[in-house]
Amino acid sequence: MGLLSKGSPFSWEDTKKHAAKVRKQGVKQFLHQYQRSKDRVDEKFLWGDEVEYTLVKFDDENKTVKLLMKSKILLEELKQREKDKTKVTSWELEYGAFMIEGTPRMPYKNSLEQMVYIETNMKIRRDEIQQMLESDEKILTLTAFPRIGCPNFTFPKTFITPDKGYARSIFFPDEAIFGHPKMRTFTRNVRERRGCKPVINVPIYKDLNTPVPFKEDFKVFGDNGECQNAALVDNIYMDSLSFGPSCCCIQVTMQAHDLQEAKYLYDQLANICPIMLAVSAASPIYRGYLSDIDNRWEVLTQAVDDRTPAELHSQETIHKTFRPRWDSVDCYLSESNTDYNLRDVIFDSRVYQTFIDNGVEEPLARHFAYIFLRDPMFLYKELLEQNHEEETDHFDNFNTANYQTLRLKIPPCNTEDIGWRVEFRPMDLQLTDKENAAYAVFVILLSRVIITYKLDLVIPLSKVDENMTNSYDRDAVRNQTFYFRQHIMKDCLTKNCSRCVQNPGKSCIPASRDYRRMTIDEIINGTEDFVGLIPLINKYLDGITTDTNTKQTIEGYLKIISYRASGKMKTTAKWIREFVRKHPEYKHDSVVTEKITYDFRNALVRKFLLQVM
Ligand code: ADP
Ligand code: MG
Ligand code: MG
Ligand code: MG
Ligand code: MG
Repeated sequence: MGLLSKGSPFSWEDTKKHAAKVRKQGVKQFLHQYQRSKDRVDEKFLWGDEVEYTLVKFDDENKTVKLLMKSKILLEELKQREKDKTKVTSWELEYGAFMIEGTPRMPYKNSLEQMVYIETNMKIRRDEIQQMLESDEKILTLTAFPRIGCPNFTFPKTFITPDKGYARSIFFPDEAIFGHPKMRTFTRNVRERRGCKPVINVPIYKDLNTPVPFKEDFKVFGDNGECQNAALVDNIYMDSLSFGPSCCCIQVTMQAHDLQEAKYLYDQLANICPIMLAVSAASPIYRGYLSDIDNRWEVLTQAVDDRTPAELHSQETIHKTFRPRWDSVDCYLSESNTDYNLRDVIFDSRVYQTFIDNGVEEPLARHFAYIFLRDPMFLYKELLEQNHEEETDHFDNFNTANYQTLRLKIPPCNTEDIGWRVEFRPMDLQLTDKENAAYAVFVILLSRVIITYKLDLVIPLSKVDENMTNSYDRDAVRNQTFYFRQHIMKDCLTKNCSRCVQNPGKSCIPASRDYRRMTIDEIINGTEDFVGLIPLINKYLDGITTDTNTKQTIEGYLKIISYRASGKMKTTAKWIREFVRKHPEYKHDSVVTEKITYDFRNALVRKFLLQVM
């Protein structure tokens, strides 16, 4: 979540009053930007990553580790330092008062050397923050802190306020939300719009001694009955939006040659999202309990769900779905793929008509009419009136508050330098820089392969939805199968292919858009009758010369993805789960205690040593 603008936010009641007007202005801003940018061409392929970091404080005497509320102080200092133009890192605020987002100062360019440099940049970021911390404080790349929302999980201590304030959570104090009006207002407005606190239920991991049924008593935390009612049996229950965006991820943004290419890449990556969500799974623990899921996605979908009961039930009344804010993609963006949408999704039909009347191409009009369906979740008094030719705050307010697996980023209005971009957003964050670099580089290389070989990975979005649901499961990477297209190539890449020779002028590859269930191992590494994504990447790399070091580093990255896909290497989630289950203090009751969380450090140190070796 970037800092959009500064100002004093409206109450939810007033935000609601201004919503229609703000939507109208946002539509105008989009139209202006679209007309201005639709034919722009950017020759350079640029890209960059975003990593969300967690700050923690260890207490060696009491053997505890807590989330360290220090990001505001750090950010103030870091923003000062950014005046130094030689700096290669950049920092932004994030949702939690214990979180901070780091990116490269400048996007990376299109070369294998730059792909390897990402790991160096990540290390510089980590060192930069670590040097600003005390010796018992650490910066971690952790998707979900195991004991977030447990009593006393912050340093300094913070206090819940179930009867007043923004979140009214019985677990997560308002003070632990970053002290910027945007985060807190968003938290309150989602709750007020829904008419109750968010309800998050994720299945508990049923271990040998986990109570059957598993049901907690929330009165001790000050519950007035709302939580007890909302909590499902055999689930880990959470009651605040805060549990969602406190989960950390790694995102990758890529600049396309033009709008056509951006739409093509977006569509092709739609079904890669569930695959990479499963391969990157790194968050099996919530509110101090081992869960039966391995990644953060389901928590976020529920946490930021601002839909009213009427919207939720639109499926029954008008047979169209009002999908949640945090979700897979709503539709394909290329004309040639619209037959594969195959879901009746509600979008704002008036906005859609305005777009069509103003010459916006159909699938894009539909996508942005979907983006404009929602209410703005925070508005600043100072920014209500905008010049639609010079500002895009209202449009950004809609586009950046729809949290889909992919985001089409339109060229910004305040610079000529940035083109159409696609952001890849599903992945959980890994524990080491090497792994995070590997995941980012895999996505970048795959995107180059998609564009170079004109791959076609499009399957019905209803099947992508099924893949998403399957990807949440414990060890989905090993236990689940995913719909994937078997014939993904348009042209045969085999030199002097004997089958092509029999078919002069034509590719031997069948033009079939069939898909079938495959394991992630098959999808990533290939089988006898499926080419596999990594073999294709290797083929692409064969045509590029580079130095031995770079070559070996990239091979190392691909090995991480390949081994995770085949099960030769555990996913981070599996590694964390096994660490807990083997810990001498673990009672096989799903409870992840303070001591177990504290001891996680030793396991981490060992992991970092392994990374160096
Ligand atoms: P957001 O929070 O809106 O997703 P950020 O500004 O935090 O975006 O980061 C996006 C990433 O995009 C950063 O790594 C940045 O270096 C990178 N980036 C910046 N300019 C470009 C560009 N023209 N093309 C591709 N990536 C870019
Ligand atoms: Mg972020
Ligand atoms: Mg960002
Ligand atoms: Mg981002
Ligand atoms: Mg499931």
